[in-house]
This record gives sequence, C-alpha cells and structure tokens, in this order.
Amino acid sequence: MENKLSQARAILQVFVLSALLVAGGCTTPHAEQTSFKLGDTTVHAKVFQHGKPSPMMINVHDDENTSVVAGKVVVRESGGRLIELVHNGGRLVEFKLDGQTYRFDPNRIFSDEGIRATLSRRSTYSEAAHRVVKDFATKFIEQHALDREPVIVALHNTDGHGLTINSYRAEGNMSSASSVLHVSPKRSPGDFFYVTDRRFFDYFKARDFNVTLQDDANVSDDGSASVYFARKGIPYLNIEADVSHLDEQTEMVRVAREMIAELGLMAR
Ligand SMILES: [Zn+2]
Repeated sequence: MENKLSQARAILQVFVLSALLVAGGCTTPHAEQTSFKLGDTTVHAKVFQHGKPSPMMINVHDDENTSVVAGKVVVRESGGRLIELVHNGGRLVEFKLDGQTYRFDPNRIFSDEGIRATLSRRSTYSEAAHRVVKDFATKFIEQHALDREPVIVALHNTDGHGLTINSYRAEGNMSSASSVLHVSPKRSPGDFFYVTDRRFFDYFKARDFNVTLQDDANVSDDGSASVYFARKGIPYLNIEADVSHLDEQTEMVRVAREMIAELGLMAR
C-alpha cells in the first residue's frame, strides 16, 4: 500500500516537473554537454545557454566556480552561452596512459610549445601524451566552433596569493605579457580584466576597473587561450576575480557583456 502510494507520488512529481519544463518553454536555460576521452579520464564540456548563444564564455579551470556562477547569472539575465570544463574539480586535468600518470593545465594546451611545457612542468612528457592533449584541445575548439566567434570571454578566479593586477606592473613577474596597465585604487587587486583588444582596455579603464592589455608582440606563447585567440585575430578577454568576490565578478561579467554589445561584437 505504502509502495503504491509512493509510486503514485513519484509519478505525480515527474508529471509536475514535466509540466513546469513545458511551461518554462524557451525561458528555461538550456543545458547540454560534450565529452572528451583522455586515456582513462573523461573531461566534460558542459554548455549552459539561454536566449541567443552570444557572447561565448568559457571556463577551463574546474576549481574556479565563482566565475561560473557569475557567468550563469548574466547568461540568465541577458542571454549567452557558457562552456565549463568539468573533470576532477581541480585546476589540472589528470589522465593515465600506458600505466603513466600525466597532468596538464587546460589553459596551456593551445600550442605545441604550451603542451610540451605544461606536461613537463606538471608531470612528465611523452609524445603519446602530447597527441592526446593536442587532440583534446583541437576537438574542444572545433566542436564548439570557438574559432568562428567574434569574441571569447574566459572566466577565471584568483585566490589572493598568486596572480593579481600587480603581477603586470614593471616589477611584477608577468610584466612582459602586458603593454599597458590601469590599476584602480578602488578595486581589489585580484579583480581585473586581461584583454587583447585596445578597445576593451579603453572601455574598462574609462570605468576605472583594473585592466591590462596583452602585449601580442612580446607575450611568450605558453599555450594559453589568450595567445591562441590573439593569433587567430579573435578579440579575447579574461575576467579574473577573487574567488570570494561573486558580486564583483558578476558586475564585471555584466559590464563586459554591455561592452561587447556596444562594440557590435555579438554573434548574429
Ligand atoms: Zn583560471
């Protein structure tokens, strides 16, 4: 009897859920995912979309979840697409191949030089592992047609210890990557934009955000997405914010979206 009752309740719940989904219609954000096999590991690319699929946002570091929450708030508010790489919850992707464990930073895989360096630094290098990582990077870009986007927005978080806007000052360890810099006294150093387009730099500087412009001539090709898209001629920006600054990062994503619309960089 109790079983029947709970069965009936379950059916009713499914019915109500379906009805809600139908009622939600096209206002419900749309989620799907693609998967990539690397040795014994599967990396998922979760796609979160609402309204038009532009702007295109990507999150490649699985432990930078505040940035994903901020991105989804703005996608729900005004549309867009967010692709999030999901694997073990950490920054590095780990996979086993022929009994050997390999690790790499998924934001260092968009050139051969970068793949060699990140495998060597994070674990060990082999040609077989190189092929696996390169194949993943190529398919990730192809399956989501990232090379055909008018602009790419990458979502990242800082943790208060490593990278800040001050890393790009003349005395900082990232100074060679940066050609111009604007540091705002009213913003937290961990909250900043890293951009490859002079128009973006001017826009954020005018609103007194921390911002640095990539020096395309002098930046070393470390396999990061910013270098890859700059070489493809696709405008690109990183939105970096402290992992505890959800409100600040949401505001940064909102401003970036407004800028992209104002500059006519929305995909049709
Ligand atoms: Zn990151």
